[in-house]
Amino acid sequence: MGINGNGDTSVTAPPTFMERVELATRWRRNRLLRPAKWLAYETGRTRLVPPPDRLYIESTNICNLSCIMCPTGRKEQLRKKGYMDFELFKSIVDQMAPWVQATTLHIWGEPMLHPRMFDMIAYAHQRGLRSEISTNATLLNEERSRKILDAGLGAIYLCLDGMRPETYEQIRVNADYEQTNANIRRFIDLKQSGGYRDPFVNLQIIEMEKTVGEIDEFVAAWKLPGVDRINVKPFDSWAGQISDINALEGQEDPIPAKRYACPNLWYHTHIYWDGRIAMCDRDFNLAYDLGNIRSADGIVRVLENWNGPKMQELRRLHVQNDLENVTPCNTCTEWAWWKPTPFKSHGNYNATKLEGE
Ligand code: SF4
Repeated sequence: MGINGNGDTSVTAPPTFMERVELATRWRRNRLLRPAKWLAYETGRTRLVPPPDRLYIESTNICNLSCIMCPTGRKEQLRKKGYMDFELFKSIVDQMAPWVQATTLHIWGEPMLHPRMFDMIAYAHQRGLRSEISTNATLLNEERSRKILDAGLGAIYLCLDGMRPETYEQIRVNADYEQTNANIRRFIDLKQSGGYRDPFVNLQIIEMEKTVGEIDEFVAAWKLPGVDRINVKPFDSWAGQISDINALEGQEDPIPAKRYACPNLWYHTHIYWDGRIAMCDRDFNLAYDLGNIRSADGIVRVLENWNGPKMQELRRLHVQNDLENVTPCNTCTEWAWWKPTPFKSHGNYNATKLEGE
């Protein structure tokens, strides 16, 4: 019997025999599928695309900070605010856990604000789905830290942009450097002293004009036991839609001269808190309609939408490089961040740049 973050055993049932068999063979089957996925991408197939590698679930689009590089923090993310319904979350996980390697539990909000976040982590864990959260760590008190550790989270990104209070507090508006720092150190201590194997701890700083002079110092200072990786996250312009955000980057990255179809449309699926589907997180206001995983009859259909007419049409527009009217792909440069190979696909980050460092 699985448990949830509140100690309530009612959210999960014991796995059936067939579910246990599926879980035991999942990794191998998905590995064998990788060349088929790559072939679908490489040949520009728009339909009957194998299931995505990664899932991005927006538990909420509400945040407690006003960070300067974030469309939510800048009040540019204008969608109705809310929290994902737990039953909807369970349906998504039930359908997608057999296929995806991992899911995030955040897109455009602070996941610690979701009242059932620990239940979500525990449910994904029980279904054999690795879950990840990126948090500003301002709400990571001792009780929440212990609940995260007990619920079975796969990876956590603890975001601390800067080595100095003045840098951090200019970027993470409404946060307190000393408090966040203390929260992060306590989380790492609790994980270590409790002997927890997971979550994989990423200590993150975003590379931008304001932080670039502090990155070497940051990397040296946070090489600590319990920090599994220091993630210097390349600046994301969120498809270049907001000039005030673009101005924060400092130095622009070069992009390939010839545009190729965006791999995200063959490898990732993004679901917002209300069930609506996004091409990727850069479409934070859903300028491009891909429908809702909840059909008119109330049934949740994730994979059907993955290969539904709207996704097929968007893939076709990418394959034919007919993107003039496709917002925000038409202003995006982040499509160039990665390209899959037959046995390797990267997540939603600038892998080329990281590998080159
Ligand atoms: S082209 Fe840019 S905005 Fe469009 S799906 Fe790819 S990464 Fe997202």
